[in-house]
Amino acid sequence: MLKKNLRIQIVATFIMIILLSLFLSFGITRLISEREISIDEPFLTIASDIADLLAVAEPDRRNQVLEILSKYNIHGEVLKEGHLLPFSLTEEETSLLFQTDITEPFFLNKKEGPVRFIGVPNIDDSGSSLIVKVDFTYFSEAIQRIILISLILVLIIGSLFILLASNYIIKPVRKLTSAAKEMATGNLSVRLKYKKNDELGELINSFNHMASELQKIDKMRDDFVSNVSHEIQSPITSIRGFTKAIRDGVIPQEQQKEHLDIIYEETLRLSKLSDHLLRLASLDSENHPFNPVEYQLDEQLRRTVLVLEPLWPEKNLDVELDLKPCKVKVDQDLFEQVWQNLITNAIKYSDKNDKIEVKMEIVDKEVRIHVKDNGKGIPEKDLPYVFDRFYMVDKARSHLGGGNGLGLSIVRKIIELHGCQINVKSEEGKGSCFTISIPL
Ligand code: ADP
Repeated sequence: MLKKNLRIQIVATFIMIILLSLFLSFGITRLISEREISIDEPFLTIASDIADLLAVAEPDRRNQVLEILSKYNIHGEVLKEGHLLPFSLTEEETSLLFQTDITEPFFLNKKEGPVRFIGVPNIDDSGSSLIVKVDFTYFSEAIQRIILISLILVLIIGSLFILLASNYIIKPVRKLTSAAKEMATGNLSVRLKYKKNDELGELINSFNHMASELQKIDKMRDDFVSNVSHEIQSPITSIRGFTKAIRDGVIPQEQQKEHLDIIYEETLRLSKLSDHLLRLASLDSENHPFNPVEYQLDEQLRRTVLVLEPLWPEKNLDVELDLKPCKVKVDQDLFEQVWQNLITNAIKYSDKNDKIEVKMEIVDKEVRIHVKDNGKGIPEKDLPYVFDRFYMVDKARSHLGGGNGLGLSIVRKIIELHGCQINVKSEEGKGSCFTISIPL
């Protein structure tokens, strides 16, 4: 339905334009032809030649000559001053004709549509003058007929051409429609080719871009589902294995506590995973409660470090705080999560006797918080992906510390929601530094 309409619209627009130009050009040429003809010098020469002809003709043959000329729409009348005026001319219009000082043919001051009158004074010795009436109706009608025929031809031939040409415009639109329909059935690999750099090209490029973005999202969704399934499956498998072994009496009594500890750790991991997934889903949905309030950031950081204190004595870490009194206006709960995730990671990926620093600096109109450790560090090739969901540089080590690769993606999501910035600098074996900038 759409394609038919578009083609009809293009052809109808063309026909309307041609019709309009037909009427306009017809009117304009009519006006122009009348003006052009009125100043046409050759007719003065014709009148002068007729006068010469009449001058050499016998007086009784003059009427015969004039009769022959009338067949060509040229009517002449020879007259003397005081004679009855022909062609309903008035004294005033012909007054110049009998002035002795005028000798050349001239146009009389009278116009009747495409009819002109030319006066030729003193055509013979007796002082006779000639009035020639030239009727251009035939010429102007012929010109108009030619214009009309050529415009009608343009209309017919042009309509046929535009009908064919419209195909070139409609073809890519048709392709786009069928590609969109195919995409709706789930085939996201459809791409369209179009070489020209016009508006249609832009539309097709946008369509291709949309298709590849959708394909990326689709892949991300697939990866996400398989990552979630994997992260759920592995603790469940070990819980099932250990409980079965204990139930079947395969594990000696004295080793059972150790296995129960593992089961307990795995349930904690599952619970943390579900916590993180719920938090991410909630942050992704537009309606996550978002309450920016003004509070002391330095106090919040000090409190978070204190809460996490039980995590570091076994590694004998040295935790150093360098904080200044500073107020920010962000969602307090969400930022608590940010500091917890970053400091927990710093602890988790530090080795024994390492040092962790939480520093604060105020630069321009923002406060920058650096969470720095001199632990394991992140290899350069992994650095661009550490904020991706489920990305773990070393899966075994992450799992050991109860990680699931979601901590930093939650941090990034919270930072993005607030329009803040997060940066990471890291060197393998030397440590990492995560910097968060909050506008003041
Ligand atoms: P995880 O739960 O695995 O810690 P995160 O999303 O918090 O997941 O971190 C993603 C990955 O980034 C981690 O697996 C780890 O390899 C790396 N990483 C994060 N923080 C640090 C850090 N401070 N030092 C070294 N590596 C880190």
